[in-house]
Parts: sequence; structure tokens; C-alpha cells
Amino acid sequence: MWVLGVTGGIGSGKTTVTNLFAAHGIDVVDADVIARHILDQGTPALAAVTERYGTEALQADGSLNRAWLREKIFQQPDEKDWLNALTHPLIREQLLAALQNASSPYVILSAPLLVENNLTRYCDRVLVVDVTEATQRQRTAQRDNVSASQVEQIMQAQASRTQRLAAADDIINNDGDKILLAPQVAKLHTQYLRLAQSADK
Ligand code: ATP
Repeated sequence: MWVLGVTGGIGSGKTTVTNLFAAHGIDVVDADVIARHILDQGTPALAAVTERYGTEALQADGSLNRAWLREKIFQQPDEKDWLNALTHPLIREQLLAALQNASSPYVILSAPLLVENNLTRYCDRVLVVDVTEATQRQRTAQRDNVSASQVEQIMQAQASRTQRLAAADDIINNDGDKILLAPQVAKLHTQYLRLAQSADK
């Protein structure tokens, strides 16, 4: 399976862009969605979390208390390491399975932390959705209704624009109007179809 990695910082427009590829019939595997479901109710990972922290980590309905866990690993970095050691291999496994199961001519792996988590090793090509940091701040604050300092914190934890661009084979600049995206996606899609096809031979 020929894999296109799509990444970009918070609020850069990854989802907007991958939706346009999906409209061309391309399957999109979202690393964030997989990561979010790894601790769903009934999963072995949630059982391990409960074994470690007790029911304190759960809500009344038995699902994970995400706010509690977030606070826990924020306070205790060792616990963050433990949680990552538990969840990362599971996420990787499910991610690879999802890529394998894709049925489109090529498949997109969309991940905000594609570069940071070295997921580029699973990609044949990397497309970066690029915006200035000012655009990132403005769009994220508008969409999520979060404080400027929260946005800043998330941006600090992500790769810098320069680091991300260094990993790019292709770049879509998304500082302009949304309407400018579709033609760029259409052009890249044609190119990716060709690349995927010739890799298949
Ligand atoms: P995150 O990683 O934070 O989930 P993302 O990279 O997937 O973000 P989107 O959710 O696609 O980004 O876009 C962020 C916000 O900016 C959304 O509210 C989206 O509608 C808006 N947006 C995206 N592109 C543009 C654009 N060119 N002009 C104006 N708003 C845009």
C-alpha cells in the first residue's frame, strides 16, 4: 500500500485538506482518532490503566476519566512514560492494520505528530499543510474557544514549522482562502495516483 503522510501543526488545516482527498475517494487513517479510541471502554489498555490507578481513573459509567488522566500525567512525568509505553505499541499496531486494510489506490496517514513520532517511516511521501504561526493561533482560538496560552502550550509541544517543513516532499500553504485548496489537492492527487501506480509495478 502506497502511503501519503499528511501533517501540519494544530489548526493548520489537515482535516480540511484530508477531507478534500477523501472526496477523491482516498481512504484516510487518522492517527488521532485511533489514539483516542485506544482507551475506550472494554479495551485491554483501559483495563491496564484501571489496574494501575484503580477506579479513580474512571467515570461513574466505567469509561476513562480523561481529564483525571491528563492531570495525572501532567503532574507525574513517569506516569506519562508508563502510559506511552502502554499505548504507543497498540496505536502503532492498529494504525498499520488500518493502512493495510485501505482499499483506495493509495492511503493517507494523517497525524499532527507525524514528524515528532517518526511515523514518516511508514510513508512513501509526506505532505505538509503549512501556515504561519499567526494563522495557527488565530484559527485554533476561533475553532476551539481556548485561551491563547493553551494554544501556545500545544504549539510548544509540537515540532517547529521549520522541522516539519524539513520532512516535507510537498507543501500546501493554507494561509489563504479555503477555496484555494481544492485545485491544489486535485493536482497532487493526480500526481499521487501516478506514483502509487508505478510503485505497484
Ligand atoms: P487540529 O490538528 O488542531 O485538529 P487541523 O490541522 O485538522 O487542526 P482544521 O480543523 O482542518 O485543522 O482547520 C482548523 C480550523 O481552521 C477549522 O475551524 C477550519 O474550518 C479552519 N480553516 C481551515 N482552513 C482555513 C482557511 N483556508 N481559511 C479559514 N479557515 C480555515
